[in-house]
Amino acid sequence: MFVINDHHTFEQLKNITSPENVMKDEYLYKHTYTRLGGKADFYVTPETYEQVQAIVKLSIKENIPFTLLGNGSNLIVKDGGIRGIVLNLGRLADINIDGTKLVAQSGARIIDVSQKALSHSLTGLEFACGIPGSVGGALFMNAGAYGGEIKDVLESAIVVDTKGNLLHLAADDLDLEYRSSNIPDKGYIVLEARFSMKPGTYEDIKAVMDDLTFKRESKQPLEYPSCGSVFKRPPGYFAGKLIQDSKLQGKQIGGAQVSLKHAGFIINLDGASATEYINLIHFVQDTVKAKFGVSLEREVKIIGEDPVE
Ligand code: FAD
Repeated sequence: MFVINDHHTFEQLKNITSPENVMKDEYLYKHTYTRLGGKADFYVTPETYEQVQAIVKLSIKENIPFTLLGNGSNLIVKDGGIRGIVLNLGRLADINIDGTKLVAQSGARIIDVSQKALSHSLTGLEFACGIPGSVGGALFMNAGAYGGEIKDVLESAIVVDTKGNLLHLAADDLDLEYRSSNIPDKGYIVLEARFSMKPGTYEDIKAVMDDLTFKRESKQPLEYPSCGSVFKRPPGYFAGKLIQDSKLQGKQIGGAQVSLKHAGFIINLDGASATEYINLIHFVQDTVKAKFGVSLEREVKIIGEDPVE
């Protein structure tokens, strides 16, 4: 049984990484796009692949629960926070070009990866220029936008499995589908991705990215914290249109609000708690189901524990 804030675990984690890479009782609202979430017992930011492997092995040996947090742009952490280790790979963020191949570590922001591709006149990742996730998070859910997705360009990946082994996988091994992969089922930690790009023209690539950025900025409430589109596209419908037609735009529970700018977004308008935000998600699902008979499936993950009363 894992003992919260165990001194022994703290010391071991610091030995594996370094003291500045392990934080105790770190508030996760600081690390999520929605600005929601209670404390992690241990927030760890390893700097090498070996450190990631060692942390996985420690969590197995000591039976410590373990959660992976990317850029926190596709998940909601509950107000009670997360027990055990929260691992963030933001310090593993190198991006390198090798001919027409682009190799990125999993903590790099996919926005920065698409900018790097632009700076080398490589085409294929324009669609990702406004997706605020990490490379690891983008592979996890086969992120996509405006007709493109990770599946189109991913060649291979390096991952750590649940036993702490390093594996080199082909893209096909990850079963990338619409907003999903087998990464959660397999329990893989993505460390690195290799993208196969094509030579292009700087001006053409930039024009596409500028156009997509304009579309995104004019349609999405990027001025507020949010988790992006809350729901997947239901077959035959658009989630945003169903929510709009249910007259839910502007609906508020506490500080959480269904965006007036884009009905598919729920924004943290004014110091919402995770509980309020999640209650609003349920309210939207129930209302749309009652009105149109359509079940809205969440795209965003909800993790962590409810607060202790
Ligand atoms: P997180 O939210 O931190 O985590 C999501 C899941 O990925 C978690 O289960 C986590 O454990 C897992 N994960 C994270 N890193 C790794 C890793 N290294 N290895 C294994 N698993 C990992 N998404 C789109 O697809 N298209 C869009 O156009 C889009 N637009 C958005 C706009 C806004 C304003 C926002 C806030 C979000 C948007 N998103 C979009 C959602 C989000 O950016 C993507 O899903 C992104 O890929 C999530 O990456 P992340 O690093 O933030 O993952």
